[in-house]
Amino acid sequence: MAIALENYAQDRWVPHSGRAVEIPSALDGHVVATCSSDGLDFGAMVRHAREVGGAGLRAMTFHERADRLRALAGFLNERKEVLYRLSADTGATMRDNAFDVDGGIGTLFAYASRGRRELPSERFVVEGGVETLSKCGGFVATHILTPLNGVAIHINAFNFPCWGPLEKFAPAFLAGMPVITKPATATAYVTEALVRLMIESGLLPKGTLQLICGGVGDLLDHLTGQDVVSFTGSLETSEKLRNHPALGRNAVRYIAERDSLNAAILGPDAAPGTPEFDLFVKEVVREMTVKAGQKCTAIRRAFVPRAVAGDVVEAVKAALAGIKVGRPDDTDTRMGALVSRTQRDAVRAAIRELSREAEIVSGDPDAEPPGLEGGAFMQPVLLRCDHPAEAKGVHTVEAFGPVATVMLYDGTEKVIELVARGEGSLVASLFTYDPEVAAKVALGIAAFHGRILILDRDCGRESTGHGSPLPGLVHGGPGRAGGGEELGGLRGVFHYMQRTAIQGSPKQLAALTHSWIKGAPAPATEQHPFRLDYDQLRIGDTIKTASRTISLEDIEHFAHFTGDTFYAHMDEEAAAANPFFPGRVAHGYLILSFAAGLFVDPPPGPVLANYGLDNLRFLKPVSPGDAIRVRLTVKAKNAARQPEYGEVRWDAEVFNQTGDTVARYELLTMNARPA
Ligand code: NDP
Repeated sequence: MAIALENYAQDRWVPHSGRAVEIPSALDGHVVATCSSDGLDFGAMVRHAREVGGAGLRAMTFHERADRLRALAGFLNERKEVLYRLSADTGATMRDNAFDVDGGIGTLFAYASRGRRELPSERFVVEGGVETLSKCGGFVATHILTPLNGVAIHINAFNFPCWGPLEKFAPAFLAGMPVITKPATATAYVTEALVRLMIESGLLPKGTLQLICGGVGDLLDHLTGQDVVSFTGSLETSEKLRNHPALGRNAVRYIAERDSLNAAILGPDAAPGTPEFDLFVKEVVREMTVKAGQKCTAIRRAFVPRAVAGDVVEAVKAALAGIKVGRPDDTDTRMGALVSRTQRDAVRAAIRELSREAEIVSGDPDAEPPGLEGGAFMQPVLLRCDHPAEAKGVHTVEAFGPVATVMLYDGTEKVIELVARGEGSLVASLFTYDPEVAAKVALGIAAFHGRILILDRDCGRESTGHGSPLPGLVHGGPGRAGGGEELGGLRGVFHYMQRTAIQGSPKQLAALTHSWIKGAPAPATEQHPFRLDYDQLRIGDTIKTASRTISLEDIEHFAHFTGDTFYAHMDEEAAAANPFFPGRVAHGYLILSFAAGLFVDPPPGPVLANYGLDNLRFLKPVSPGDAIRVRLTVKAKNAARQPEYGEVRWDAEVFNQTGDTVARYELLTMNARPA
């Protein structure tokens, strides 16, 4: 019996009413599910997201949201079988599920880790350093990022019903924005099951996630400049959305990821018999057949040097011959079905267009694989275009199925021009063992791509492949690919936040950002700060040390003790000939060591460990006879996952006897917290 999909609006499951759309199985056309969004109050959904979801999320810190994401990923991971089972009717094989279901859950895990590691235990982010805007340092500025106060509308394509919603949800949730997700109708039953699990987990605060199965009605009319629309799908729909009056009028943030004629380039050095040639063939075949080629990152244009075109075509054909097309539950199956017969018709039409300029050299687009009649199965189709410079459609028609065109090129200059004819893509891959070719081609085509993979014998075995977007890397591309950007680590989170420059006095900015700035109050603590535990320390707490004179004997002792007898410390004449030094100078590491000797308080106490330095600069040479002293100030504090301790970041500045700064750095310690 068909599943009657429900919508999830204002924290309630709403059965569909009105005229339902029937969603056919990719395997045999039976109706898997029905859906409709008729009757939903889209304005109320938007308000609920903003007022309940947004408010709740913004009350949490990044670390609290990251912990929810991690728990959610774990919850889904234990229940993913149901998603695998449902995905079979979309035509997906178990190999495809690894990308869609496991890839989606993996993205949640990845953002949970980043949220903990790379974001503070705060509700805002301080981005970059402090800008000094006046001569005396009394007027400064910095940039902060805060979550937008609206809702993120996520509109997804049919091809990744799990990864698509999850890769958009994770960064938005971490940023602190509620989500209304709208899957493509063709595979909405998988996304609906995913959202059911997410809600069942009980981990999402109220109003955080809503689901629309069906059309979006007047949803977009309710959007303002605090909202974000993130879209994946066709160029035509993207254009429609971008031109929606409310989006234009209210400058609604719009991220699009759409058609992309991604390229793979076989380098001139990668002759038959080389590992790079074999990797190229393997990757082209993989990209044609995973998800039956219905991937926004799939290789559509395979550029090969003219001299080896025949070898490439033969090798790809031979590999394709081993790909069995079939039902996902058949253990021999290597490639499943397209999502629907309608989609297959669209792919066949695109192949007809491509074949005006290219010759089909493998596969029959119209063949019905025997025993699979009624489903949306088709053979992979390889085309060959000998003169791509004179062709047009091969660079602009995206056959969104198991289809690729081998295109011949003459010289690296030409291939750079040809790749750019795609007018912007998500990804290109380059198969060469020659660093000169790699650098020339990669830099030549980079402006047209969001990601470039250089694949060779050294990284082939470990590579994640051409077609896999990764949470830490930018996913998106210019021009035809939509001009958007998703993922890319924290970049993806910041799409849902507003960047604001804040100007004022160091005192005001330090108080606002919870981060000490030079010029802000730096009160000396009564007790040595190393006697204060994490919670007792306040931002700005400072110790100013006594001074210590550095002698020539100190320098020589340090040199012989450590083995660092570099001439600048040991040879007066050679040191003086150096443009930076007046003569022999103290080692930078000697200055750091003496600085530590000046500021530490030795007995056991709340400081558990020194675990690093950041932003270290030696600013002025220290000569024998100079006296150094240190100012050490608590710059920031960051709670660790473990409740027993937290990270303290200290601003350390070392001065000489005339008050000039000779070194500056940030010292990191782990400090105990009371039980
Ligand atoms: P569509 O652009 O038709 O649909 C994408 C999403 O947009 C779906 O959720 C769809 O919902 C929704 N949508 C459609 N019209 C509107 C509208 N007026 N307002 C708001 N939302 C709307 O793409 P498909 O998923 O159907 O794929 C079609 C083609 O797009 C593919 O054949 C391929 O060429 C290309 N594509 C490209 C991708 C890429 O990243 N390069 C990825 C996927 C597809 P509904 O399904 O309910 O209509």
